[in-house]
Amino acid sequence: MDKKLKILLWKPGVYDMTRGELPTIGLSILATSAINAGHEAVVADHHFSPPPEDKAEEAILDLLDEHKPDILGISAVSYEWTMPRVQAALNAAKERNIQVWLGGPQAVAYSDKLVEDDRLTKIVIGEADGRFNKILEAEEKIIHLGRSPSFDRPTFTAMIDHEELTTYPLFVSRGCHYNCTFCAATKVFGNRWRARELSPELWDEIDQIAVNHPKCKTISIIDDAFTQDMDHAKNFLKEYLRRGYPYQVSVFNVRADYLDEEILLLLKKTGVETLAVGIESADPEVFRMLRKGEKLETIETAIRLIQKAGLVPWLNMVIGLPGDNIEAHRRSLDWVLQFDQPRVIQWNIFSPFRGTMAYDYFVKTGDIEDGFTPPFWGRYEQLPDDGMFDAADFSREEKSLAQLEAFLKCNVPIIILSDKKVRALCKEHGMWDLYEEWRKNAPIKEFLENTVPNKVEKGQESISQEDYNSLMAEFVNDNQYPTDPFVYKTVSP
Ligand code: SF4
Repeated sequence: MDKKLKILLWKPGVYDMTRGELPTIGLSILATSAINAGHEAVVADHHFSPPPEDKAEEAILDLLDEHKPDILGISAVSYEWTMPRVQAALNAAKERNIQVWLGGPQAVAYSDKLVEDDRLTKIVIGEADGRFNKILEAEEKIIHLGRSPSFDRPTFTAMIDHEELTTYPLFVSRGCHYNCTFCAATKVFGNRWRARELSPELWDEIDQIAVNHPKCKTISIIDDAFTQDMDHAKNFLKEYLRRGYPYQVSVFNVRADYLDEEILLLLKKTGVETLAVGIESADPEVFRMLRKGEKLETIETAIRLIQKAGLVPWLNMVIGLPGDNIEAHRRSLDWVLQFDQPRVIQWNIFSPFRGTMAYDYFVKTGDIEDGFTPPFWGRYEQLPDDGMFDAADFSREEKSLAQLEAFLKCNVPIIILSDKKVRALCKEHGMWDLYEEWRKNAPIKEFLENTVPNKVEKGQESISQEDYNSLMAEFVNDNQYPTDPFVYKTVSP
């Protein structure tokens, strides 16, 4: 090695409802590879640990001045790429002769267009584990790394504010061998499922959490398809339990067709409380078009199995997928309503990722143009979302109202944070009866008492103390609310 390089790895981050949860693992995996190659790496993850929003641009420019890196590595999604602070950082890097490497979803989706940008030195697609030198030495601008033969442990200690980490993201496998039409994950991690060896290296990574991240309370298994080999998942969980780790486990997502009683029991023993299952749409035609490779009946059986095991199924639903419209959405909604409590139902509006079949579908229908960048993913206090884009069969407004109707019928408490907007929409669109039912049945009290303070602490929700006190007084203490939706009652604490 000729020279020890200084590498600054940056996640710009957005001020949305997911900030502050998990650090971006890809940056810390690249940091490992850079450090192993004899260089110096610092990770600034502004999604995990964001500066004040009005100082975000200044923060990255200050970091460039402070660290004087030879290389600025950026991991960005498409929306982040359009943000002024990212463009300002790119311009500043060019002025200072700093190499810029871009990775993450934006690099995967837009390498053909980004290659023209002379501020970028390298566009990196694929897994970075052990690949720092390969990227450094590559002569081409677009580098297709493909799948890595190894799983590097992430060096989260290289991350600014790493001592604040409370949830540790862990890969036990990568990839998924399905190819759902809407899925961005397989574009990033590929279509081959790969197990991580349950080796001393993996257990040592977990052992080191107590040393490096003393505030950590949870391990989050972030695999795309953790249970795709059930024996592997079970062996991991059994050994995890045998070793008696103190961390509660959470699992990002499982496929309904890769579950059985034994694995659910093991998950419960590790502290898993809710288990997310991707359904997306339960309308038979929309579901067929997703090409998920499983049946709705299998999902139904799995949800009941999860409930029987004493876990709460978290049903991920999406509005506005190919083939969806208001009638199909209502069929989907009726299907999920067949499940009694306990269950959590999450309704998101479809955000197309370039390179997927679902994205191509909407380009072909003329509903979006190639290059469409999904707008900012909303904040809780803005729900329902704005509908993403107008489709011939499902307008933005229809999608937004469909989301609101779904929240109300499924008794989702989160819309209490945008209560003024919700009341106005319900009044205007004939949903006031639904609102009143929701008001009676949704677990608003528990949500305000237990969930909101945590979200405020993480900055995912910017409710003021005064508004929070008003909501508590209005919805928890005296159980009253105004019947006129255009008048927002404020109650002094
Ligand atoms: S099962 Fe999940 S990870 Fe696999 S392709 Fe489908 S959505 Fe993507």
